[in-house]
Amino acid sequence: MIFEYPEPRAVRTHGPAQYASYESFRPWLRDEFTFRCVYCLKRETWGQVTSEFELDHFHPQVLSPDRKLDYFNLVYSCRRCNAVKLDQVIDDPLTLLSSTVVTALPDGHLISRVPEVKRIIQQIDLNSPKLLRWRVMWMRIVELASEHEPSLARQLMGFPDDLPDLAKLRPPSNSRPEGVGISWHAKREKGQLPASY
Ligand SMILES: [Zn+2]
Repeated sequence: MIFEYPEPRAVRTHGPAQYASYESFRPWLRDEFTFRCVYCLKRETWGQVTSEFELDHFHPQVLSPDRKLDYFNLVYSCRRCNAVKLDQVIDDPLTLLSSTVVTALPDGHLISRVPEVKRIIQQIDLNSPKLLRWRVMWMRIVELASEHEPSLARQLMGFPDDLPDLAKLRPPSNSRPEGVGISWHAKREKGQLPASY
């Protein structure tokens, strides 16, 4: 389903470290967050350039300047959600926003019974009237494409072409090197990339 959040997970796949600039983490974060905004699930393939996506410190830089270059404090976010978040203190959205605790209704609303999830929905204003209209619009677009033009549906729900080849990157250190072998690029090399996600 188009607005289904990822399976719950406790740990990250990658662990690059000691880069001099946080922008260097971008390919790792694109792969880790499957090319979509961790908060609203907007996909790279729905826009034109990946720079529309930002690398967000979920512990705000002003409060945790020592975590500026900490991969485990970075998430992949669309510009809209990063702008709404600003310097709010929030829980880690990667572990919090999962398919078991948050559901998108056909009218576009996100619902959850978990207080921490409700709080993050409120903090990022994920049920704003504009986002509800946006979700319903995309549900309808993908539904129509699935019925009438399956190749377009695959394009809208599939992976971008420029999957980052993490094996070619040489981070100063990486606490989880085994993650490279299960990156989306590595899966494509093995012919294991799903048609959609
Ligand atoms: Zn977003």
